[in-house]
Amino acid sequence: MTVQREQLEADVLIVGAGPAGLSCALHLANLIKKHNEAGGASKAGPQLSAENIYVLEKGREIGAHQLSGAIMNPKALAELVPGFEKSAPLDTPVTDSAALLFTKSSSFRFPITPPPFQNKGNYIVSLSKITKWLGGLVEAAGVNVFKEFGGAQLVYEGDGIAGVITEDKGLDKNGKPKANYTPGYELRAKITVLAEGTRGSLTKKLVATKKLDNINPQSYGIGIKELWDVQPGRIQPGYVAHTLGWPVSTDMYGGGWIYGLSNNRLSIGLVLALEYANPQFDPHAAFQIWKPHPFLRKILDGGKLVRYGAKSLPYGGWYAIPRTYVDGALIIGDSGSFLDSQRLKGIHLTMKSGMLAAETIFEALKAGDTSSKTLSAFPKKIEQSYIKKELWQVRNFHQSFQHGMLPGFFHAGLQFITGGRGLIDPMRAHPGHEAYKKINGRPAPERFKGDGKLTFDRLTDVYHSGTRHEEDQPCHLVVKDLNVCSTKCVVEYGNPCQYFCPAAVYEMAQEKDGLKLKINAANCVHCKTCDIADPYQIIDWVVPEGGGGPNYEGM
Ligand code: SF4
Repeated sequence: MTVQREQLEADVLIVGAGPAGLSCALHLANLIKKHNEAGGASKAGPQLSAENIYVLEKGREIGAHQLSGAIMNPKALAELVPGFEKSAPLDTPVTDSAALLFTKSSSFRFPITPPPFQNKGNYIVSLSKITKWLGGLVEAAGVNVFKEFGGAQLVYEGDGIAGVITEDKGLDKNGKPKANYTPGYELRAKITVLAEGTRGSLTKKLVATKKLDNINPQSYGIGIKELWDVQPGRIQPGYVAHTLGWPVSTDMYGGGWIYGLSNNRLSIGLVLALEYANPQFDPHAAFQIWKPHPFLRKILDGGKLVRYGAKSLPYGGWYAIPRTYVDGALIIGDSGSFLDSQRLKGIHLTMKSGMLAAETIFEALKAGDTSSKTLSAFPKKIEQSYIKKELWQVRNFHQSFQHGMLPGFFHAGLQFITGGRGLIDPMRAHPGHEAYKKINGRPAPERFKGDGKLTFDRLTDVYHSGTRHEEDQPCHLVVKDLNVCSTKCVVEYGNPCQYFCPAAVYEMAQEKDGLKLKINAANCVHCKTCDIADPYQIIDWVVPEGGGGPNYEGM
């Protein structure tokens, strides 16, 4: 089918309205405003206007797909929006930071909270609310935000990128046009900014096509979170605890969080590195098993689940940052690996990366040169900023834990006293899916069901994520060879997609002609874990019809 696409031209096209993309848009709009007020617009050279900045958001509204713990260091926000305290939805400042060691039935608070777990000066926030508020500022600054539109394909031109094509709308599950069919737009831009979050689908293709990987491949974790309303007096607003130990075994890397928000609301979650050996390990079940621990049960009993979500996060750190520029394009935020893997803090880094991208873009637009030579100023700005300072100190941190918690703590201790160097620098990493060991005939484990009060099965949790997708559309989880699932994977790894997906999307179903993979795509919460953790790397997560996905309101 030949598709006639409407073309639109912009100066800058930002794919993704998360904290990085919105910070980029707002900072750039502010720079343009100052430039024009200072008479820049009347001088010779290109005319700049915030209206020529486009932002794409695949969610039904800004913030719908934003999920984080979330503790925010406010330093980037203070630069971006001076006086932010007056209007930003900050929820509550951190008042107490605890580090807890869990065994199965007891807990122990470290007498001194180790520095990575200290959060004085930070805020507990809902990232969904913060981005919604930031989105309002971006729109008020004149930027064009297109909601319910995802970037489906990159437009390659010469050695670089000239924009993106948004997803076709109104196709049925066989790819045939329905009555409401609308072809995706070809959005062309002088500079395209990929701010898609972790494992961005366009970023993945660009990094592979242009070989932009750093010395380490990206490493990932999965975070699973619930919001609860608890009985009054069970949790202090501003209380922050990070837990180590049970139920995370010492050959895995991960831990839990417990954050007290205002109005007796609680954020709890478990984050686990996607590099474990057992392919039938179920991260969602691990999170559920964690909640009846006596420490948590005391807080949660009598409370009510409000919301559920899951997302992946980039753990790779400094040595996994891809080359962040090509002709006509930049990579920012989680797509660019700007996350402190020790503190698991990234909101301020991702925002700062967006702001430094905005400064690079502003200079490039003024010079009328958007080549990679000009855009190479972006990584130089990163080098000179606190992003480098923070990430450099923990450049080998996550890699230390690829062989378990105990060797990890040994290396991390040495890195702490040597400014991040440790025994080996750079410490290399392997793609997490290579850690799986074959099941060798081990039977499938029993699935976690939950008691429906304190613990839940995946479908109950998905219901609380507010997820919805148009059912009659092409499947956005593209498995390149389904035979691999029913012949090879079932024997070698026991179909790990059935276990690592926190939304019960994948199931092996017995059909007349044998076991077949069934994909319940409408459940997908867009965490990208399947794209990351599939042992054969044959699952490609592509953008579904815009507006589909979770609704992380208040998360
Ligand atoms: Fe996450 Fe993939 Fe499951 Fe969607 S299908 S929820 S992206 S693991």
